[in-house]
Order: sequence, then structure tokens, then C-alpha cells
Amino acid sequence: MLRVCTTIVLLFFISLLPSVFSFTLPSGPTTTAMTTTAVAASPGTKSAAATAARAVVSIHWFRKGLRLHDNPAFLEACQGATHVFPVFILDPHFAKPEKIGVLRYRFMLQTIQDLDDNLRKLGSRLYVVQGQPVEALPRLFARWGVTKLTFESDIEPYAKQRDNAVCRLAAAKGVAVHTFASHTLHDPEKYVAKLQGKGPPTVYQSFLKIFSSLGPVPSVVPMVDASVILPPLPKALWKGDEEGEGGGGGGGGGGGDQGEREAVTALQDEFRVPTLIEMGYPDTDAPTLYPGGETAALARMDLHLSNIKYITTFEKPKTSPNALRPSTTVLSPYLKHGALSARLFYHSLSSVLAKHKGPHTQPPVSLVGQMLWREFYYLHGHATKNYDKMEGNPICRQIPWGQDKELLAAWEEGRTGYPFIDACMTQLREEGWIHHLARHALACFLTRGDLWQSWEEGARVFEIYLLDADWSLNTGNWLWLSASAFFHQYFRVYSPVAFGLKTDKEGEYIKKYVPVLRKMPVKYIYEPWKAPKAVQEAAGCVVGRDYPMPVVEHSVVSKALMGRMKMAYDAGKAEGGGEGGEDKGGGVKKRAAASAGAGDGAVGGKLKKRA
Ligand SMILES: Cc1cc2nc3c(=O)[nH]c(=O)nc-3n(C[C@H](O)[C@H](O)[C@H](O)COP(=O)(O)OP(=O)(O)OC[C@H]3O[C@@H](n4cnc5c(N)ncnc54)[C@H](O)[C@@H]3O)c2cc1C
Repeated sequence: MLRVCTTIVLLFFISLLPSVFSFTLPSGPTTTAMTTTAVAASPGTKSAAATAARAVVSIHWFRKGLRLHDNPAFLEACQGATHVFPVFILDPHFAKPEKIGVLRYRFMLQTIQDLDDNLRKLGSRLYVVQGQPVEALPRLFARWGVTKLTFESDIEPYAKQRDNAVCRLAAAKGVAVHTFASHTLHDPEKYVAKLQGKGPPTVYQSFLKIFSSLGPVPSVVPMVDASVILPPLPKALWKGDEEGEGGGGGGGGGGGDQGEREAVTALQDEFRVPTLIEMGYPDTDAPTLYPGGETAALARMDLHLSNIKYITTFEKPKTSPNALRPSTTVLSPYLKHGALSARLFYHSLSSVLAKHKGPHTQPPVSLVGQMLWREFYYLHGHATKNYDKMEGNPICRQIPWGQDKELLAAWEEGRTGYPFIDACMTQLREEGWIHHLARHALACFLTRGDLWQSWEEGARVFEIYLLDADWSLNTGNWLWLSASAFFHQYFRVYSPVAFGLKTDKEGEYIKKYVPVLRKMPVKYIYEPWKAPKAVQEAAGCVVGRDYPMPVVEHSVVSKALMGRMKMAYDAGKAEGGGEGGEDKGGGVKKRAAASAGAGDGAVGGKLKKRA
């Protein structure tokens, strides 16, 4: 198996070999890749001759795209450069436990540590800087005499705003900026160009037509061979200190070998990867099930690719939400951080399928189909106004969600009294990854299924705990599950009891993640409140004392909530909202709160909570 797997990967890279090994440095910093959007430069600062005479000193700014393979922006940084500084900035905007949970932050630190290790193997290193990019980058420009900045473009709202500000600052300093869209299969702008002014399609099949019309997914670019391209590290550092604004290095040019060593050490300390505690997080002894980094990402992908049967027969709906070992790839944390290139995974999958003689599964259920879902939601993230909000979002149904802090907390803390739901939430909080259908169950339960709380709250909570929390994907899937966009069959609700039972009759998953129920007889493990008192006592788990009573009665509230959904949908239609952006051209719909909310009496008034 391992041999097959290695062969596949080798074959894949063999196709790149000529470019990897015969890669020669072009003479100037011209960008050649199709995805280049050379933003840049210094409006009328220095003459062309003066600029040409200057050494090219590049910063490649790693954000997502935390990898050496298929990284066109990093490659560009190296082209014609005298020195290249690989930089990662720890932005205080993100370093908050209430925003990014400790497990994801740990994953991210592991990922940049792996990047640093891999760069060091190539005679370079990662410079980890703390601070706001708009402040940190100009300091580094001056300190190292930077002439060129490269990075991978990013479609998230905060990133767009940050990057525009950085581009403006760079232009003012005469630093040329080159950006590349390499986080998705195609540049999101290319899809937008095909839309001819309309909003993105809200139906997957319509999206596939646009995807196909863009032609083949661009090939991966050669891996940076830093031993050839990157300059020797100490010299680069020394030079930076000579030219800079007095940063770190023990006093400029003199001092010989020892002075140089000291300077290097000081800089290494200054720019090293910090610990969780240094970043204001508590340390954690939670086991690392999915280690961060490009090395682990490639190994994980490799392992899956070696299993031809798994790849060719993969059907998402047939995988299990409560398997004790993940039944899907768990490549999501790596794809999210760009430790694995989406294009590499896509081309590797395609190569396995092309060589396979027999039939194989197809989108939307196949693995290629999953990558296209990712693409679909990225396009929406890029092109849908107010995508992560209900109000002002042209594709989102306006639904008068409730605001019940108690119910939200019970859901978030895994104490709803429904063991399957609580087990999913516990796995999420303790391990940082749960299966797609477990996410379905949790999202449906919080919103239209049982608790009538806003999907925006759910997305916020997922954002904290998921290792793979990805703004475009998380938002899109919450819109789907809450039947706010993309999916409209609000009358199809997951049962918090029957759904888990289908794939785990013995309740092994519940026993693992809700250990207080491990002695509960199988007959009652999904509905412990139905067990006779004596059975509860014998199992050491009395409901109401050792484990909560259900917070709502599913069979009652789910029907009532369907009624509320119908009213919100009807109100939307009455206001001309239709079935979503694709069908009606995506005008902003008005909030239906007043009309739908007023109908509470028709569905039994306030949501019936259990004591
Ligand atoms: C409410 C909810 C929230 C979600 N939030 C996120 C999130 O923040 N980040 C995230 O990566 N995924 C999210 N998903 C989508 C999906 O659940 C995960 O991508 C998937 O479970 C990751 O596991 P995997 O890598 O084993 O997936 P696989 O099934 O092995 O799929 C391979 C890759 O395809 C992509 N993919 C798979 N399913 C989807 C999907 N439905 N939508 C978009 N891309 C997909 C992912 O990049 C995934 O890694 C969410 C789903 C739901 C229902």
C-alpha cells in the first residue's frame, strides 16, 4: 500500500521535476504565473535605473498558504532576489482565546513551527513577528531594506481590508507587491468574471457549470528549492542589521565571527515561534490527534491516496458521524491553514481516478465533489455581500431567531440532555474536529430543529473550537443547515435520537464522549430519561442529577419550529424574497421578524423548555 502511495506522490512530483530541478533564477522580479495580480509599487519615488541597480530584498508574508509546496507567491519572492525573508505575523486581532480556541491556536503554532523547521533544512528560517501587520511590515521594510513583498491573496473581509492597507503602505515605501490566488482551485475573481454582474449561484449544479467553464484547474507550481534560491541566512541577517534601523545585532558591521554569531542568536530568539503561554493562552495537555504542519498534511494526504478503494468509492452521505475513527479524510485543518494545497489534493485525486480502471463516485458525494463544495462556498465568501450575517445578506432568509443565553450555553457546553448532541459537542471541544454529519446534527439542533437560536451564534461557537474553522465554509454550511440559504427543506429535521442511532446502535460514541452514560443500558443510551429510576441508579447516572434532562422536548418543539419556519418563508415571499439569491436576482430582503414573530401563538407560543 505504502509503495502505491509513494508511487502516486512520486509520479505527481515527477511531472514537476524538470521545473523543480532545472529551475533557474530569472533576471528580474517579473511575475509570470497566471494567477499573479501584481498590485504594487512606488508611484514616482525613484527612477527606473536606480531601482534596477538596487538589490532585490523580498519578504514573503505567510498567512494561510503555510507551505513550501505549490506556493506561487513564495516562489515569486525568490525570483531574482538577493535575500528572501520568510515572515509570519502573529496578529493580535486573532490571538484571543474567545475567538480562536486553544486547540486551533496550538495547531497554528505547530504549523508555523513545522514551516520554520522545513525552511531551516533549506538554509533559511521563518521570522515570526508579533504585532499588527500594518505596523510590523513597514518596520521590517526599513530594517531589512526590503524592495519586494509577496503574499497569497485572501478573500475574508478582515484580510481584504488589512491587505489593502498594507499595499498602500508598501507603495508609499517603494516596495513592489505581488499577490497570488492559490488558496482555492481557481482564483475567486475568475468565477466572478463569469457571473457577468450577477450574484454567485446558490445551487451546486449551477456552480459546477461555471467551474467547468473555467477550464482545467491550474497546475501546482514547483516547490521552492531554497538551497538554490534562498540566500545564506547569516549573511542575510548581517546585512539586514547593517542596513536597518538598529534592530538586534550587537552593533553593525564589526565584530567578526563571534559578533556575527551573537547577532544571529539574538535575531533567532527575537523571531522564534512563541509558546501558547507567551501568546496569552493556557497551556493544554489535550492530546494532539492532528498535528499541525505541512509535513503532517502531506503524510495524511499520502496515506489516503494510497487507499485506492477509499478514494474511488468515497460517498460522503455513507460516511458516519459517530465513527470512533474518522470516516472522512480530516484534511480540513490542513486545507484551512493552507498547509496542504487544495490544487495539489485535487490533482492528486484526479490522477488516482484517471488511473483507476473501474467506476468511481462523482460530485457532489465524491472527494473531488467535497473540494468543489469548498470552492462553491469560497466563491460565496468572496462575492456575497454581508455573507456572514443574516441582515443585509441577499441570499439569506430573514428568520426571527430567538435569543436565549441559557439554551445557547447548554448547547455550547454539551449539556442539552440529548446524549448524541452532547457527545458531538464534547468531541468538538476536546478534539477540535467532528464529522460533517455531526456538524449537521449540532447545527440543525441549535437553529430550526430544536432551540431556535441564530446560526450566527452557532457559527461563532464553531469558529472558536474547530481546528478547521474557515470563514467561508463555516458560514456557508451554517446558512445551509439553518435553511437560511442554499437548502430550503426546513421540514426535514434531524432527530437528536434516531440520527445517531442509525450508524451506532450500541452507543459506543456516546459512551466515549459522555462517560457518565457508559453504564447506561444500550436500550436507553440515546434517551436516558426514559430509563426507569432503578435502571438509572444501577447505571450510576440519574437524569436530572448526574446528567441533564433534555432542554426541550424534540418531538414537540421540532413541529412547532417547522411552523415558525413556514411563517418566516411565507413572510419572505410576501416581501418578494423568493427562494434565495439565484432565483430572484438577490435583492436584499427585509427582516421578516415582525410578521413571523407575531405568529408565535399559532405554534404554541414561547419555545417549550424542559425543567
Ligand atoms: C455547520 C457546519 C460548519 C462547518 N464548518 C466548517 C469549517 O469551518 N471549516 C471546514 O473546513 N469545513 C466546515 N464544514 C464542512 C465540513 O463539515 C468539513 O469540511 C469536513 O467535515 C472536514 O472533514 P474532512 O476533511 O474529513 O472532509 P472530507 O469529507 O474528507 O472532504 C475533503 C475536504 O473537502 C472540503 N469539504 C468537505 N465537505 C465540505 C463542505 N460541506 N463544505 C465545504 N467544503 C467541504 C474540506 O476542505 C475537506 O477537508 C462545516 C459543515 C457544517 C455542517
